Amino acid sequence: MRDKPVDKPMGKPVDEPADKTGGARVDFQKEMEKLGRLYRVYDRATAAFPVACKEKCDDCCTCNVVVTSLETAWLLSRLSKDEITGLRERLEAGVPEKRYQPGYTTNGFALACIEGRTLEDEENDPAWGKCPLLEDGRCTVYHARPFGCRNMMSEAACADAGYARMPELALTLNNIFLQYIEHMDYQGMSGNLTDMLVLYLKHAVPYGTPGQKSHAFPLSLENLKDSDKTGIFIRNMKIPALMIPPEHRADAAPVLDEINALGQG
Ligand code: SF4
Ligand code: SF4
Repeated sequence: MRDKPVDKPMGKPVDEPADKTGGARVDFQKEMEKLGRLYRVYDRATAAFPVACKEKCDDCCTCNVVVTSLETAWLLSRLSKDEITGLRERLEAGVPEKRYQPGYTTNGFALACIEGRTLEDEENDPAWGKCPLLEDGRCTVYHARPFGCRNMMSEAACADAGYARMPELALTLNNIFLQYIEHMDYQGMSGNLTDMLVLYLKHAVPYGTPGQKSHAFPLSLENLKDSDKTGIFIRNMKIPALMIPPEHRADAAPVLDEINALGQG
């Protein structure tokens, strides 16, 4: 089955997001530049892990990827107008009807742990379908893909094992980066990649002249139009505490130093 198509005409952009207190939103242009640098820190930190990942290995490319609003803006800002048109057509052609729509963020999970609250397990099944951005086993936005895709790795081919076998330290590092990326966008929101792209293509990808890069900007729940407040996006939050097991603290320390050198959001 197919989902609702993306609105064809470019909708009027919503207002530039502001923080709930009425203050100015963080400088998202700076945050977007910082996000690019953060991805490079991650690439360096994980380059030595022995993984079986290779070209056209796409079992991890499901419709269940989660992104923040900042990452979505970053992704779209890296695409040319033709690439945006291709993305729009791809989403209009149909997306899996069922997809993972998270009920809490990584920092929300960390806070629940601190407060001793148990969160309900959420259903998340790769069988629900492939990512609509995949074509012939290749990602059509590979250079701009979000962190939820960058952090996938496995010591054995997922197709053989039936699941990703991620090194324990990689899991810890992934959590740190997920927490930090959400923290950078604490005035924004998180949601399923497909839902977020549909929303952005409707409201937040204005163009100048043909050939120009887009000027996507992060959205917040407060700035969504009423028709878009469908309960499928969740508010981001700052890091309540980093989730680092004691046995990984020494290995994580230099990575944290690199992250902190990027500047706190
Ligand atoms: S995580 Fe699994 S499916 Fe994805 S590229 Fe690596 S081995 Fe392939
Ligand atoms: S955005 Fe690209 S890398 Fe990520 S799941 Fe989709 S096709 Fe795969």
